[in-house]
Amino acid sequence: MTARIIDGKLVAERLRAGLAARIATLPFRPGLRVVRVGDDPASGIYVRNKDRAAAAAGFDSATLHLPATTTEAELLAVIARLNADPAVDGILVQLPLPPQIRAEAAIDAVDPAKDVDGFHPLNAGRLASGQPGLMPCTPKGVMHLLREAGASLRGARALVLGRSQIVGRPMAQLLLGADCTVTIAHSRTRDLAAECRRAEIFVAAVGRPEMVRGDWVAEGAIVIDVGINRTAAGKLVGDVAFAEAAARAAAITPVPGGVGPMTIACLLENTLEAALARRQG
Ligand code: NDP
Repeated sequence: MTARIIDGKLVAERLRAGLAARIATLPFRPGLRVVRVGDDPASGIYVRNKDRAAAAAGFDSATLHLPATTTEAELLAVIARLNADPAVDGILVQLPLPPQIRAEAAIDAVDPAKDVDGFHPLNAGRLASGQPGLMPCTPKGVMHLLREAGASLRGARALVLGRSQIVGRPMAQLLLGADCTVTIAHSRTRDLAAECRRAEIFVAAVGRPEMVRGDWVAEGAIVIDVGINRTAAGKLVGDVAFAEAAARAAAITPVPGGVGPMTIACLLENTLEAALARRQG
């Protein structure tokens, strides 16, 4: 079998165009504020891409860039101001934060109604209890891609490799919500390759370059590779050995051009949802 390539760039473009069309009909522009502390270079690129995509889709978007020496109290004061600002619908605190600031403190400070990253414990709890709320962007993007790939999820055996708060756990919750039978694998999982081979839907989010080999993938599986890893040679690769896996899978996402573009598109989708819930709800 040679896998169909799931084109995340195209799906993300379509999603952003749909959002732009909806925003064009609104009497207001949904407001997104990204708070960046310090000068982490990867965050810089990501934040610029967010700003560009948000502006192109018609959002009122801005980045607040605070110095690396910002204290936790200063950051919390900025977040409190954004929470109180009626023009702001979505707040995203870019991670990682400098060591003097606890990420949990920043995440907990964001108004859950404006938490477009979906990381606030209230939104995580809502997701875990099957209630509507703002969902983390990357797993939400994966669900869009699975639908795009025509995956039939009800009753399917799904495996999520990785159990982080931002990808693995919420991913498993979303798949469970779509009636998959979900296994969450991690660094303590025994017989990892055998567990993986049972999966009809396979989502890899480990952060280990090409760790998932072709013979870990079931014939006909749908493989979603969340990993973004830079090799010593400067090349971007996923968590899945692409060519090997593509020889067995029915469909697979590439890296780059798979899950990555969906994350920003879903951030914008969350911002529009937050705006509509706050202003019309
Ligand atoms: P984390 O490092 O927070 O979590 C990695 C998970 O993988 C952990 O649960 C860990 O297990 C598990 N793991 C690590 N090594 C192994 C191993 N050898 N065998 C089995 N499980 C293992 O990573 P994130 O979830 O934040 O990110 C994962 C990947 O996704 C990264 O490459 C990241 O760059 C990428 N990413 C991509 C995004 C996008 O927009 N496309 C957005 C966010 C992340 P344990 O819990 O036991 O330690």
